Amino acid sequence: MFRDDKMIEAGGVLSLQALEGVDMSNHEGQLNLILVVDDDELVRRMMCDALVAAGFAVVEAASGEAAVDQFREREPAGVLLDVHLPGIDGFATCRELRKLPGGDLTPILMVTVTADPELIHLTFESGATDFIAKPVDPTILGYRVRYMLRAARVAQELRRNQERLLLSQQIAGLGYWEWDLQSDQLTLSPEAQIVFGFPAEEAVDYRSYLTRVHPEERQVVDLALKESLDGPQDFNLEHRILWPDGQVRHVHAQARVVRDSEGKAIRVNGTLHDVSDRLQTEARLVENQAHLNYLAYHDALTGLPNRLLFQDRFNHAIARSRRLSYQVAILFLDLDQFKKVNDSLGHEVGDQLLREVAGRLRGCAREADTLARLGGDEFVLLLEEVDGMNAASAAAKKIIKRLLPTFRVGGFELYTTASIGIALYPSNGTSVEELMKCADVAMYRAKERGRNNFQFYTPDMNARAQEMLLLESGLHQALERGELEIYYQPQLEMESGEFIGTEALLRWNHPTRGLLLPAEFLPLAEETGLILAMSDWVLHTACRQNRIWQEAGYPPMPVAINITPRMFQQALLLRMVSRALSASGLEARYLELEVTESMIMDNVEAAIQTMTELSRMGISLAIDDFGTGYSSLSCLRRLPINKLKIDRIFVGDLTNNKNDAAIAASVIALAESMNFGVIAEGVENEGQRCFLQERGCRQAQGFFFARPLPVAQVEKLFRRPSPVDRG
Ligand code: C2E
Ligand code: CA
Ligand code: CA
Repeated sequence: MFRDDKMIEAGGVLSLQALEGVDMSNHEGQLNLILVVDDDELVRRMMCDALVAAGFAVVEAASGEAAVDQFREREPAGVLLDVHLPGIDGFATCRELRKLPGGDLTPILMVTVTADPELIHLTFESGATDFIAKPVDPTILGYRVRYMLRAARVAQELRRNQERLLLSQQIAGLGYWEWDLQSDQLTLSPEAQIVFGFPAEEAVDYRSYLTRVHPEERQVVDLALKESLDGPQDFNLEHRILWPDGQVRHVHAQARVVRDSEGKAIRVNGTLHDVSDRLQTEARLVENQAHLNYLAYHDALTGLPNRLLFQDRFNHAIARSRRLSYQVAILFLDLDQFKKVNDSLGHEVGDQLLREVAGRLRGCAREADTLARLGGDEFVLLLEEVDGMNAASAAAKKIIKRLLPTFRVGGFELYTTASIGIALYPSNGTSVEELMKCADVAMYRAKERGRNNFQFYTPDMNARAQEMLLLESGLHQALERGELEIYYQPQLEMESGEFIGTEALLRWNHPTRGLLLPAEFLPLAEETGLILAMSDWVLHTACRQNRIWQEAGYPPMPVAINITPRMFQQALLLRMVSRALSASGLEARYLELEVTESMIMDNVEAAIQTMTELSRMGISLAIDDFGTGYSSLSCLRRLPINKLKIDRIFVGDLTNNKNDAAIAASVIALAESMNFGVIAEGVENEGQRCFLQERGCRQAQGFFFARPLPVAQVEKLFRRPSPVDRG
């Protein structure tokens, strides 16, 4: 593309002649434009013609000021500038041009009258690229200008390359230096200067270079450099650089010695790679990895080691103890009734409690021990190098004691205890699995023994644990297989011998073990949650049986059903009871529910609500095992109670034990004063019957009158004429 008409309007001359090779045009294919500045029109004409003939495009100016304007507007590839100009002279014009955008790179050829050295000096002073003396030979002029442009282009290219190199070095954090051994001067690239923290333009010698190397590595760097001066090896080292302000950079330095023809070292060329960022990234990676490792081996809630880490530590511990013939103890710890906290106060409180417990347990472990959380409310303490049972029981006692004080969590005062099972290596097993199983079994024994205690594993525990396991799997199927049965124990009016009701008591016809009593399977059902389904079954079956008896013409009387703590929640219980009543068609007044004192005392307000609701439905309520709990009179007064059942432990020893006799008597008196009915259970002999009757208790239940019996046998009993009829 050629410059257009605008250029001609502006006083320029455009030539299309003599297009001669690429040299004449710039990289965009345009003719190279030369600005010709001379006040002498003739000379100017001559130079223009010569340039046009040589293949350039030209633009003219007759003064320095005009030249500046033209330059700004046309951005010529080169300038031909006369020294003598009206107004500002050639030197001043040259200086002005140099200041313009692009002016620093454009070649300027100064046209002087003579080749006077003073003038030549001034010419270069003012920033001209070259000079040419008048008279100018037109043929030479074209070559001179062409040469000048080419040189300028090479220079520009070089400069651009240097800039690129610098930039890429900057990006790569790569510095370059050269150490001249003769002068001991170090030349640093800007990037190297930055990495070393030297101010620009500061003269650097080897000594000052060394002062920037971190003191701890200075000697090594010095040695390595000297070595490569003497030997064939290149210098290659990672070291730190310490800035005067204390900042530290990490660099990878490489250098090569340059030798003369005789092999004498004359120069060292080196590069410097700033790897601080890379090291930082690597350090971060390592840190992240460490964090991930930490997470993999620790429990997030408490920060304690988890099962994995515990197993690892255990394996180390037994390896060590094999060598030193020590014992290793495992204390397996399960919090008592932690589920209650979680269920009633929420997981947040539960979590917080676990954290607090973990904190207290930590205080019980020695440096060498491992305390881990296995999950839920299970912890395990690994004691290394113990001398047997003493150390283990001491640790268990310490834990139980530490847990005693109440915990303050989320505004609640909580109390938690632990059941601990202990297993020893190698006497109880040699693998972590074996030992954990033993400790687990022992822990269950501790629970059975009333919780808040510890038990050492003994082999007979295993047999029992096995049995429990079998029982548990059997219990799951007992309902479906119809192995459950209800026995009914009649309740009587002692005076008349008249049957006044029955208590439904659950039995399990176990396929191999025969008839099982509730004590043998209810705790397990309670623990596994099966109790709810079983209780529902009892409710339905007992209600239907009672209804069947009524339809068969037996005298109508209530059936008493035992309620478990789990059932004793208003919504659940009301739903279960009303469904059982409507399914069986039994009237509510023929259903009696037996609630224990402790169930009421667990949450008095809720109990009052639930019981009031049940009572409103027409169901009667009995307090079971009365005398064993701690119910207060004020509390009893607020409950819609129909009947107190004197617990059979007081009845059993009534005639021998004054205390029991007093309790039984006072329960009877209490019931009378509060207008409750009262019934004694567990009456086994005539003496007990007499005592109770004398004190005003008229109703009873017990082996003396009838045992709990299967349906068919109860029916036989009912069919017999009552003692009154007989009389
Ligand atoms: P409980 O409610 O105190 O039931 C009375 C227990 O005393 C019954 O034991 C009964 O067989 C026993 N018993 C009755 N008369 C005498 C006597 O003269 N002497 C002696 N020594 N014992 C007598 P059982 O059937 O073994 O039941 C034990 C406990 O299991 C019951 O105590 C009750 O708390 C619970 N239970 C039984 N059936 C059920 C049920 O269907 N649901 C619930 N939740 N609990 C039940
Ligand atoms: Ca009962
Ligand atoms: Ca009872």
